Amino acid sequence: MQEVFDLIVIGAGPGGYVSAIKAAKLGLHTAVVECREAGGTCLNRGCIPTKAMIHAAELYRQTKEGERFGVYAENVRYDYNKILEYKEETSASLRNGVEQLFKANGVTKIKGKAQILTNQSVLVKNEDGESVYQTKNILIATGSKPFLPPIPGMELSGIMTSDEMFQLDHAPDELVIIGGGVIGVEFATVFSSLGCKVTIIEALPRLLANLDKDFSQNLKLILKKRGVDIHTGASVQKISKDGEDFTVTFTEKENEVNVKTKYLLSAVGRAANTDELFAEGISVDMERGKIIVGEKFCTSMEHVYAIGDVIKGIQLAHVASAQGICAVEGIAGLEPTIDLNIVPSCVYTDPEIASIGITEEEAKEKGLHVEVGKFMMSANGKSLISKEERGFIKIVVDKESKVVLGAQMMCARATDMIGEFGTIIENKLTVSDVLKVMRAHPTYNEGVGEAFEELEGGAIHVAPRKKR
Ligand code: NAD
Repeated sequence: MQEVFDLIVIGAGPGGYVSAIKAAKLGLHTAVVECREAGGTCLNRGCIPTKAMIHAAELYRQTKEGERFGVYAENVRYDYNKILEYKEETSASLRNGVEQLFKANGVTKIKGKAQILTNQSVLVKNEDGESVYQTKNILIATGSKPFLPPIPGMELSGIMTSDEMFQLDHAPDELVIIGGGVIGVEFATVFSSLGCKVTIIEALPRLLANLDKDFSQNLKLILKKRGVDIHTGASVQKISKDGEDFTVTFTEKENEVNVKTKYLLSAVGRAANTDELFAEGISVDMERGKIIVGEKFCTSMEHVYAIGDVIKGIQLAHVASAQGICAVEGIAGLEPTIDLNIVPSCVYTDPEIASIGITEEEAKEKGLHVEVGKFMMSANGKSLISKEERGFIKIVVDKESKVVLGAQMMCARATDMIGEFGTIIENKLTVSDVLKVMRAHPTYNEGVGEAFEELEGGAIHVAPRKKR
């Protein structure tokens, strides 16, 4: 008799692999189908490789600036191929870890491209041929791919997305980036640090338009100081190519502007991956190419669930993993254990950016009465030691109850420090609850304490506001 799985997960990215391992831990007989490498975009072409490149590029820039600490290094240089090797080793090590975890947890890994035949059967095609697998439930975690906007000239050969950017075997000496969102500013951070002349063209009035305005303003100044040419409110109209050179045409303040470049990166969002996912004649409800899910991540097809970048909503690796855990808990008949409403969002620029919960602007739009505690990191000891004193920590609380509603940080280690706020917001802690705990000295984390103190009568290391 043919083996019947309790769950087949399609896709082994951070959504799919976490779901499969969690399902196995909950006692479900689980298989995961993946046509490329384990770890998906995140481990192989996204979060991990970019952060490895940011680490190497920042190290290069900081080594050159070592004189500020009395450390002199001569002939500081980088070998781009070594950086790529280090990036690849990092991805490979994490990828192997995922494969080991599949084995250790008894998850069956099936290599190949999956197609849903019915709500309880999946066809897998690979170099050995085709096989059909039976299952009680299917979880779609096929993720996303770079979106190519319908701009005339976008089809020209040589235009890169983040995928192709990682395949370049040399550092470009110039780079034009269309899109000043997360991918745009992270690649600008890497290549400007490596000495490349970077230009960002962003259609909206500011960089990182989905995040707090203070981030955009500060980041623009910092990137400009590093030589990045930034055009905001500048929508790309067309691209042409003459020999090896692209010309990008955009409108800025009603003027037509042309920028020439050999290297062009399109970073204008990602589209759901549903190509050939459904056999002819079957499908699930979708909106703008994304799968619609209801309660417990059910699609319109019974026993078929979907999570991560392939569904509507926030496209982040940790969101996909958390959704996967909740979906699998539902399939196993359990209540979800994670609150999916509190989402930390991190951008790996220098300084780092991190945000969670509501911002001051959003609170105002919603008519909420809030108070904001702000601390500038120029008064933080650890920031002065490492000369990373640019930046701030902002905390948004309900004016009356002093319950914490959100936090935004732009400073060293912001992406590590934001986690504390998830616990604070989930548990509806107030300013005085948080201030009961002392913080180690000297740490960047003291800045968080000082921002809270600002909300409770004034921070110790900030001059009191003048009374009128
Ligand atoms: P994004 O949505 O963050 O940014 C795309 C930007 O392109 C937008 O600001 C948009 O206004 C701009 N744009 C669109 N059309 C344009 C045009 N014709 N001319 C000029 N600008 C134009 O998308 P992204 O940066 O491509 O990232 C894709 C997804 O991956 C996002 O959901 C992001 O959150 C995720 N991601 C997250 C991280 C992280 O968490 N650190 C890192 C990379 C990517």
